[in-house]
Amino acid sequence: RRTAALASSSGPGRTQDGHPVALLANIGGVADAVDAGAQDLEGVGLFRTEFVYLSATTAPTAQEQAEIYRQVFAPFPGRRVIVRTLDAGADKPLAFADLGPEENPALGQRGLRLSAVRPDLLDAQLEALAIAAKDTGADVRVMAPMVATAEEAAWFARRVRENGLPKSGVMIEVPAAALRSRDVLAEVDFGSLGTNDLGQYTMAADRMHGALSDLLDPWQPAVLDVVAAACHGAADRGKPMGVCGEAGGDPLLALVLTGLGVQSLSMASAKVPMVRYALSRHTLSDCQRLAALARDARSAGDAQAAVRAGANPEV
Ligand code: PEP
Ligand code: MG
Repeated sequence: RRTAALASSSGPGRTQDGHPVALLANIGGVADAVDAGAQDLEGVGLFRTEFVYLSATTAPTAQEQAEIYRQVFAPFPGRRVIVRTLDAGADKPLAFADLGPEENPALGQRGLRLSAVRPDLLDAQLEALAIAAKDTGADVRVMAPMVATAEEAAWFARRVRENGLPKSGVMIEVPAAALRSRDVLAEVDFGSLGTNDLGQYTMAADRMHGALSDLLDPWQPAVLDVVAAACHGAADRGKPMGVCGEAGGDPLLALVLTGLGVQSLSMASAKVPMVRYALSRHTLSDCQRLAALARDARSAGDAQAAVRAGANPEV
């Protein structure tokens, strides 16, 4: 029965009472884009552009990049594609953007911090994105990784505007940006919570360290509190907040995130049907009740158990 129900749920994401929650794909290149483009989803919530250049030894020109981005955008005319500018650094090394080894790469000159010292790389990428967006008719929006302050968001938004792209956003994956989302989002059009890094930085636990997986559990109530604060600030500022970390693809957690105020969920495209189904079986006020249950719990395990017990058992 559940399989039949899953198969029959289609179309835009919405709760049982019609509250919209956009369902989007996380992609890493052309093959993912073609695959996601053929599926029933509203667009792309995270294109990790650094994945395209993992084996590049020299910086790609704007023309070379535009050629790839055109292929990525082509399956999405009229649909949104959120492109993240290069998230490189010592933790995600790219040969042509190497600033040398760092003692604490996750806390170093990565993401937008690298763009600040290599604005030539950022500008070439934005130029390429503007060309490809124009050619394909996709609703392209760019966002910056690893933003911590409103000043950084303003710097990025200005460069995006100067390159003729209409919309800018920031990843909310540093607790500082989450706690001050009201100020950070004043500078841009949207925020997108990166729950992978937000968990790492909130719990002070290296996301690559297998022995710390309990601390990195996205159900950690402290992480949910930080997400709640970020959503609160976004609502205050009247700007949309999404999720593009792995947490968005867990159907129960997707309900909690919706209850906390998130308006879009981006995930591996294979997870979209389950999340769509979970949303369709709960009202917005159910989601809010489940979010409150999760935040009332004392541990990640208790939060998950409480939500599982409180949710529709078919999910
Ligand atoms: C995140 O940090 O949650 C995120 C979506 O980005 P990445 O996993 O690429 O760091
Ligand atoms: Mg991240």
